Amino acid sequence: MGQVRQAQALAQKWRALAGMPRVTDLLIPEVSPVKGCLQKMAAALPSRQDEQVVYHLRAGEHRVALNERIGSPMRLAWSGAIACTHCGRATKKSFAQGYCYPCFKRLAQCDTCIMKPETCHYYQGTCREPEWGEAHCFQPHIVYLANSSGLKVGITRKTQMPTRWLDQGAIQALPILEVNTRQQSGFVEMLFKEQVADRTNWRAMLKGEVASLDLRAERDRLLSTLADGLSQLRSVHGGDAIRTLDEAPLQFDYPVAAFPRKVVSHNFDKQPLVEGILQGVKGQYLIFDTGVINLRKFTGYEISVE
Ligand SMILES: [Zn+2]
Repeated sequence: MGQVRQAQALAQKWRALAGMPRVTDLLIPEVSPVKGCLQKMAAALPSRQDEQVVYHLRAGEHRVALNERIGSPMRLAWSGAIACTHCGRATKKSFAQGYCYPCFKRLAQCDTCIMKPETCHYYQGTCREPEWGEAHCFQPHIVYLANSSGLKVGITRKTQMPTRWLDQGAIQALPILEVNTRQQSGFVEMLFKEQVADRTNWRAMLKGEVASLDLRAERDRLLSTLADGLSQLRSVHGGDAIRTLDEAPLQFDYPVAAFPRKVVSHNFDKQPLVEGILQGVKGQYLIFDTGVINLRKFTGYEISVE
């Protein structure tokens, strides 16, 4: 593909990826002061590639636009209450980032096979919720390379791009393979893990000490190193079950005015009041001059924001 056509294709894809989440952003008014149960922050691609990721803190029905608050004081106070993100019941403790214990034990989305897709047990007839599994796991998944704190491999449902990368604080991402099911993506990821990390070093990610990588070159290197393993998987799952993609790498710029030199974590369980000057947002972290907080970890916590 020529350089110009490739740039056009990338710009088109960017618009497609950037398009959807922003519509809902416009529909939900911001109210202040805000009180409600925390949800994962909404992260959306900017409308233009050279702009920064757009973040909203979500508490109950409310949305707080964060980009414009960087540089200003902010205060989050936990009331002591936690509501299960699935059933809404009060829970003393949060399991798996936001669930009550019964939901944690009952829901397919809380089963270990979600974190380790290669252990999918649907075919043994033991899926906790077969219908949920059919809707979420039996659909196209992407194997990608990302650069969050260095090169990593990951998998995601096709519909979760680019959210997945933004949640990890990745500065670059490149989809490399498409497969038919979540379990297949797990088998492919297992293979790649022989060569690449699958975790983010969140401290390095938050310090912003991440050098840019040539993801296309990494992809080509890995596909050739792992060629035997891939053809073995194809012979088991069918020749067209694992499809090589030829996509352009995406880059993400986060709204961070100052990266912390030393990463200190806030934790509502230890100190229900978190305050400071908001210095940035990256991944699912708020960066204050007083420390960082992983808001995803506190999904369901009832907080007020000032
Ligand atoms: Zn529940």
